[in-house]
Amino acid sequence: MGKNLAQKILSEHLVSGEMIPGKEIGIRIDQTLTQDATGTMAYLQFEATGIPQVKTDLSVSYVDHNTLQTGFENADDHRYLQTVAAKHGVYFSRPGNGISHQVHVERFGIPGKTLLGSDSHTPTGGGIGMIAIGAGGLDVAVAMGGGAFYTPMPKILNIKLTGKLQPWVSAKDVILEVLRRLSVKGGVGRIIEYTGEGIKSLTVPERAIITNMGAELGATTSLFPSDEITLEFFKAQKREQDWVELLPDVDATYDEEIEINLNELEPMAAKPHMPDNVDTIKNIGPITVNQVAIGSCTNGSYMDLMRVASILKGKQVHPDVSLVVAPGSKQVFEMIAANGALADLIKAGARILEAACGPCIGMGQSPQTDAVSVRTFNRNFEGRSGTKSAQIYLASPEIAAAAALTGKLIDPRELGEYPIVTIPPEFIIDDSMVLAPAEDSSTVEVRRGPNIKPVPINEAMPETIAAPVVLKVDDNITTDHIMPAGAKILPLRSNIPAISEYVYCQVDETYPKRAKEAGKSFIVGGHNYGQGSSREHAALAPMYLGVKAVITKSFARIHKANLVNFGIVPFTFKNEADYDSIDQDDKLEIPNIREQMAKGTDVTVKNVTKGTEFTVEYDLSERQISILLEGGQLNYTKKQAES
Ligand code: SF4
Repeated sequence: MGKNLAQKILSEHLVSGEMIPGKEIGIRIDQTLTQDATGTMAYLQFEATGIPQVKTDLSVSYVDHNTLQTGFENADDHRYLQTVAAKHGVYFSRPGNGISHQVHVERFGIPGKTLLGSDSHTPTGGGIGMIAIGAGGLDVAVAMGGGAFYTPMPKILNIKLTGKLQPWVSAKDVILEVLRRLSVKGGVGRIIEYTGEGIKSLTVPERAIITNMGAELGATTSLFPSDEITLEFFKAQKREQDWVELLPDVDATYDEEIEINLNELEPMAAKPHMPDNVDTIKNIGPITVNQVAIGSCTNGSYMDLMRVASILKGKQVHPDVSLVVAPGSKQVFEMIAANGALADLIKAGARILEAACGPCIGMGQSPQTDAVSVRTFNRNFEGRSGTKSAQIYLASPEIAAAAALTGKLIDPRELGEYPIVTIPPEFIIDDSMVLAPAEDSSTVEVRRGPNIKPVPINEAMPETIAAPVVLKVDDNITTDHIMPAGAKILPLRSNIPAISEYVYCQVDETYPKRAKEAGKSFIVGGHNYGQGSSREHAALAPMYLGVKAVITKSFARIHKANLVNFGIVPFTFKNEADYDSIDQDDKLEIPNIREQMAKGTDVTVKNVTKGTEFTVEYDLSERQISILLEGGQLNYTKKQAES
């Protein structure tokens, strides 16, 4: 029986387990990436392992999230990241060089390799045929030290693309259609592999848009084959030597299959406040738009910005619209500057930002109160823009450009002829903003500012947990709800005592204080708890506040793994109806939790306040249970090293 592409790459990297969906596998990691918002903690954790040099083929530290320097914190952290990278064998992509995922695809990614990144949009690398997975910083630190990455073996979902995209319909509409059909939970426990005639008309940047937003489906990763189109991209990047052809076998089989006819797709948008709240632009209607933001790791490529520049050329941005444009990388920035497209954007009235995440992570350009903001980004969670009342629509660069010109969310086909944009045969290659690690690490002093505090270490799991439910929340809680980002909070990412003051602050600002007063506590949640990013602070800061277990109807993959890494037990209700029987502030007790979990049996929880009992379960490997018993991955790794 033939293998699909995901199976081929995984089997080459398998170090433990069997590739049976749901069973834990361990895979060897070839490359890692970090971004600054998660990277400081990842490198602090790597330092804590005591391993002198990274053991991967390639590790890159990017600075793209916290580029606003409104205080000393970010600048200090950039200096820490630069020096710690130099010391331990990591390449350092300086602030201004671009967004990690965009730069990694352009300059470092290699088809058929595995990439683990401390950012949930790491699957962007699937656009060039990598198995690229987002994970918590601690998992990445372990991988940098040569450790395997463990994950339940995903099912492989084949999305067969037929037909060809019509003018004004773009790759963004493809992934929005997938989100419309499958929802933000539809990719959980799956690798999405794209095949079919339709992929032959999609360039690498277009494929990367689709794999990037596979993260919004909750997928482990998404990938395209590495074919002649990939080769063209590698040639343009002067990296032909890194290209290899990688295709699924002709008789490959898949666990699941769906088909999308590209001919039939229409311009679409994800409405507030979820990426799967998708409808056609026609159905949404011509609502008034106040802000347009173009860029991000999803749509900050050369082709994206060239398309926007062509649409805006010789015209003016609507007087009631603020248009901001952030190129995805320095390469893109330099190229649109060199060919005059940047001048077209500036002349039309665009406000040009640096090549970084910027408004996507709430780092500036928050919209006005109650604004409608059309963004080419990948997430529209409430409040992520920095303005809670803002209504964020996710759409293609074509739709965004049309909105910038007209002040309305209109079908871009109303603009007339579709501008033809071609990929140049050669990109501008200039890696001067990437610093190689030091040849002699003994000469490097790691510089730490006052904002960098030691990593807090959890205690081992106690015999009994008796604690109140300090917070009860609904379905679809995101990591932005748990640990908000933004210009005020992100600079505290390497200072857990300080950042923990903001846990759940947008849901209930009294939460951090109440959790601290309780000492130990539970959180109760609904379905898809922890969806969104790989932000391990959404587990680490609650751990610091004393959260011992989170009991939900279901978890998002990366957050569940992060909870385990920091010694917080991710329980799910055996009977979902028990969720309704618990109120906030109820006192729960789990006697003999160590014994029950060591045996791997379901766990009985007493609701002391209500005088009732209910059962919880945990879908965890033996390795994960051992980590939880030790109080987290750091304790577990140290113990393993000692034994
Ligand atoms: Fe940066 Fe936004 Fe992409 Fe995250 S999703 S890496 S914040 S551009």
